[in-house]
Amino acid sequence: MLAENLKQVEANIADACRRAGRGREEVTLIAVSKTKPVSMLSEIYDCGVRDFGENKVQELCEKRELLPGDIRWHMIGHLQRNKVKYIIRDAALIHSVDTYRLAEEINIQAKKVKRIVPVLIEVNIAGEASKFGIPAEEAMQLTEEIARLDSIRIQGLMTIAPYVENPEDNRQYFRKIRELSVDIAKENIDNVSMGVLSMGMTGDYMVAIEEGATIVRVGTGIFGVRK
Ligand SMILES: *Cc1c(COP(=O)(O)O)cnc(C)c1O
Repeated sequence: MLAENLKQVEANIADACRRAGRGREEVTLIAVSKTKPVSMLSEIYDCGVRDFGENKVQELCEKRELLPGDIRWHMIGHLQRNKVKYIIRDAALIHSVDTYRLAEEINIQAKKVKRIVPVLIEVNIAGEASKFGIPAEEAMQLTEEIARLDSIRIQGLMTIAPYVENPEDNRQYFRKIRELSVDIAKENIDNVSMGVLSMGMTGDYMVAIEEGATIVRVGTGIFGVRK
């Protein structure tokens, strides 16, 4: 059953890429497995998926222990500074950096394990009070500050768009963050690339791909609704 869901998501991604004139290989699908049992992750792993996203440190660590070592684990949720040390070795990409203080802690822990850690800057593109992420107007400055930390590499931006019934309503936000990433790229900041745009979830990943997403994060569409 999960294989069928995945097939449908893959077909939708391929359609969106075609509409946008983009190659399928330009978009990475992350299977967002939060709250779901390891057996379900295994099923999706067996279908060939290697990128999994979790939003809690403890859950990511527990699942990592039980699943194959070639999985790329993405930290997509709000990250507390005191938990950075638990994922510093194994996070393939930390999507949720939105303060200098958090980046500083990632830098300290990264040095300890002699790793250069790839991160994304999380932007609260719609300015929602309920969401984490730096306001769009402050993203450039935060990027410049974090870029000076030598054990971190900023690879792009991430956003969680508003919850909407009609995915078209989020097109404006996807466009806006893409423009922001182009603006930041133009600054040519040392140690910063803007190649990654992590945006689009079950409700709106097709629109996100049409607007330039290079990573989509799909949970419900693959694993079914969460309790
Ligand atoms: C839960 C979550 C997702 C996936 O949401 P779905 O609507 O189930 O696809 C994507 N990104 C983040 C940051 C999440 O927390």
